[in-house]
Amino acid sequence: MEFSIPDDQLLLRDKVKQLVEEDLNPISLQVEATGEIPQEIVAKMRSLGLFGLAIPRTYGGLGLSTLGEILVYEELTKTNACFRSRIGTSNSIGSMGILFDGTEDQKRKYLPRIAAGEWTAAFALTEPDAGSDAANIKCSAALEGGYWILNGTKQFITNGDCAGVITTIAVTDENKRARGGFTAFIIEKDFPGLSVSPPDKKMGLKGSHTNELVFRNCRVPKENVIGGPLMVGQGFKTAMRVLDKGRLTMGACALGASQKLLENCVAHIKHQINSGKSRDDLQAAQFSLADMATEIFAARQMLYDTARLRDTGKNVTHEASMVKLFCTEMASRIADRAMDIFGDEGYLSKSQIEMFLRDVRLYRIFEGTSEIQRMVISRNLLRS
Ligand SMILES: Cc1cc2nc3c(=O)[nH]c(=O)nc-3n(C[C@H](O)[C@H](O)[C@H](O)COP(=O)(O)OP(=O)(O)OC[C@H]3O[C@@H](n4cnc5c(N)ncnc54)[C@H](O)[C@@H]3O)c2cc1C
Repeated sequence: MEFSIPDDQLLLRDKVKQLVEEDLNPISLQVEATGEIPQEIVAKMRSLGLFGLAIPRTYGGLGLSTLGEILVYEELTKTNACFRSRIGTSNSIGSMGILFDGTEDQKRKYLPRIAAGEWTAAFALTEPDAGSDAANIKCSAALEGGYWILNGTKQFITNGDCAGVITTIAVTDENKRARGGFTAFIIEKDFPGLSVSPPDKKMGLKGSHTNELVFRNCRVPKENVIGGPLMVGQGFKTAMRVLDKGRLTMGACALGASQKLLENCVAHIKHQINSGKSRDDLQAAQFSLADMATEIFAARQMLYDTARLRDTGKNVTHEASMVKLFCTEMASRIADRAMDIFGDEGYLSKSQIEMFLRDVRLYRIFEGTSEIQRMVISRNLLRS
């Protein structure tokens, strides 16, 4: 399999690699401890155009192909995962609904600001009673005059507290629900009636905030239905299209973390050998390295191949689910093996092995759990 990658995309990948090594790695532990990414780092990511990777050039973004975008994520997740998360929602779930289904006016109004990193974009689907079962959402929107009035609660919204704009899915027809009764709205952070809770305390991605959003009679102008009046009721389709693409992104994040863990393990074993430990005593660890490298090789091939297929315009729903399932499950296995190889040292925060172990676990949960991917894949297999 051959992948031809344009020079400008390889150049960007190299710039991201440099950013990781020179700016992000040195502050990774600090961000882990404080839970905050310094503003100058956010500014640096802005200046590299990282908030608009997939947004077309016409709207101020870099207009990368899926493969080009994946190369960036692969590099950016070789450090604390929160840095990728800070730009992630603007590049995928937060902005793609507007790009895929928005009106031209909406694209011109929102995408350039998102691409410039002026407005972070977030995505609000999950609710207290609707995670995997997204069709169970309760957040409602009712039309009153020129406004939709939203009421309900969304939870676990990544970048909820720094978002300028939030793609939000709400019920507009209780009878039809997911079959023509959900609508996607563009919510600006200052719309009256929207409040954002303090960040959740969680196991990993400490520097990436998730928040609860509460809509209490939140007034949303009619013009803010994604795609305009004809798209009222089509919000579930928009959400599913958005999540489809996100699955490849998650594969790339899991791959980047796995590659970094492998590199750390190789360096650790080399150091032990150089310090006089016999290769025979390290046979189990060496076999573990071989298994990690083999899995990573397979993961990279399937991820790049699916990205390339998507870039040719093919529907890759089935393949994207397999990529997410394989890459994210692999990352957990690799993080666990890395912990075995490092032993007690890996358990210490300063090794960052334990941070990777915590962080990669998330990839198996959000944007569709492993079980949901298995459902998508098996449904496709059994479709007559
Ligand atoms: C850090 C973080 C960031 C997030 N960011 C966002 C965001 O920006 N926007 C957003 O909208 N959401 C976000 N989410 C929510 C995330 O998408 C959901 O957590 C995810 O969809 C799973 O839903 P749930 O947590 O309610 O789990 P549940 O759906 O309650 O699932 C619990 C368990 O049951 C399994 N399960 C569920 N249904 C089935 C089934 N039919 N068959 C077999 N097994 C099943 C699941 O796989 C899982 O293991 C985020 C979550 C986290 C943790």
